[in-house]
Amino acid sequence: SAPAPDKIDYVFKVVVIGDSAVGKTQILSRFAKNEFCLDSKSTIGVEFQTRTIIIAGKVIKAQIWDTAGQERYRAVTSAYYRGAHGAMVVYDITKRQTFDHVARWVEELKIHADASIVITLVGNKADLAESRAVPTEDAVEFAEEQGLFFWEASARSGENVESAFLRLLEEMYKVVS
Ligand code: GDP
Repeated sequence: SAPAPDKIDYVFKVVVIGDSAVGKTQILSRFAKNEFCLDSKSTIGVEFQTRTIIIAGKVIKAQIWDTAGQERYRAVTSAYYRGAHGAMVVYDITKRQTFDHVARWVEELKIHADASIVITLVGNKADLAESRAVPTEDAVEFAEEQGLFFWEASARSGENVESAFLRLLEEMYKVVS
C-alpha cells in the first residue's frame, strides 16, 4: 500500500515513449494501478499517473507520463521531456518496425532530455511469444551498445512490468543521491 503522502523526499518524472499501439498506456496502468484494460481505446489527454514507492528509506513519488497519442503525429514536444530523469522506450516484440524505430526514440531523448537520464528499453507483449518478430538477442545487443537497461515484459500478464519500473527508479535514485 502507498505510504502516507505527508513526506515526499523526491518526485521523479519518467516519460514513456515508443511507437503507437506498442502498449505504453497499458504498461503505465499496470504499474500505477495494477490494471490491464482489455478494450483500451487510444489514449486521450491523460498526462501522467503516479505511484509512491520507497527506495533506501526515501519516499519517492514516481510521476509517469504518457504521450497521450502525440507520437502518432510525430508531435511529442520538448515540454514532454522537460524535467524527465528517467525514460522507458517501449516496442512490441511482435512488430519488427516498432523495434527498428527504437533508435529514433533514443535519439529524441538525447536531443530533448537531460544528459543524465536513465533509459530502460522494454519489449512489450511478451505474452504473445508465438508471434515474436524481434529476437531477444537483437534487443540485448542494441541495449548494450546504447547503455540501456532492457526487459521483455507484458502489460497483459504483468510479467516484468514492476521489475522494469522499480529498477529504473532505483537507478534514478542513484543519480540524485
Ligand atoms: P499505446 O498506443 O502505446 O499507448 O498502446 P496501448 O496501451 O493503447 O495498447 C495498444 C493495444 O495493445 C491495445 O489493444 C492493448 O490492449 C494491447 N496491449 C498492450 N499491452 C499488451 C500486452 O502486454 N499484451 C497483449 N497481448 N496486448 C497488449
